[in-house]
Amino acid sequence: MARRRMVYEGKAKILYEGPEPGTLIQFFKDDTTAGNGEKHELVDGKGVLNNRLSEHFMTGLAGIGVPTHFIKRLNMREQLVRAVEMIPLEVVVRNVAAGSMSKRLGIEEGTALPRPIIEFYLKNDELGDPFVSEEHIIAFGWASQQDLDDMVSLALRVNDFMSGMMMGVGIKLVDFKIEIGRVFEGDFQRLIVADEISPDSCRLWDVETGQKLDKDVFRRELGDLSEAYTEVAKRLGVMPRQNGSTNGPKLVH
Ligand code: C5P
Repeated sequence: MARRRMVYEGKAKILYEGPEPGTLIQFFKDDTTAGNGEKHELVDGKGVLNNRLSEHFMTGLAGIGVPTHFIKRLNMREQLVRAVEMIPLEVVVRNVAAGSMSKRLGIEEGTALPRPIIEFYLKNDELGDPFVSEEHIIAFGWASQQDLDDMVSLALRVNDFMSGMMMGVGIKLVDFKIEIGRVFEGDFQRLIVADEISPDSCRLWDVETGQKLDKDVFRRELGDLSEAYTEVAKRLGVMPRQNGSTNGPKLVH
């Protein structure tokens, strides 16, 4: 059988050519990195969890009319997605101060923000994904003013939906990152949520205990990352049966 053509390999995912034009297969790896790749480990089963969780979030978003690239999950590690023209920005939404914002501005982690704050970072590994302003984005042509308006609106809708879903299972959505792509329909372009939404790209804190259930467990060496992600998946009912359960599907890699 002919090997599939790889289109792109990132730190945590690989994209292959899809079965039809305009589609891609997104493969979730177990590779886990932090500090722009400086810290790197394999976390057994992480790709399987993120594939499921991203499917869950993207399907839910589509259900409330937020367009995403997700088409369907193919197997434990792969999903079929729409090919998009990626906007070279990471869009971060923050509800609570944490991470780089706390560091940069000296605001204590855990401080509730008066309103969701949206930030843009340029996707550029060599530069370490620098923080950029809307002025930079327009001036350098990374996106238009209309794109920016649409990105803010998408990001806030994702925030509302994800915050509600997580709060329903006792988890606070502290912040998250999304990536957005363009699709062309006739003469029109539309922006849709692409890449992934998973505990790799969100900060998730248990409402009662404050326990971290996201990639900070890896970044800050707080314990077992796969246990944290499994807890998120279990609460959301994404993987209701435990590994080793005698009836029903078993988590295989
Ligand atoms: O590090 P920082 O506080 O700016 O991260 C904000 C949010 O964006 C966090 O949820 C983090 O997981 C996510 N993020 C990401 N990929 C990056 C940078 C940040 O998913 N390259």
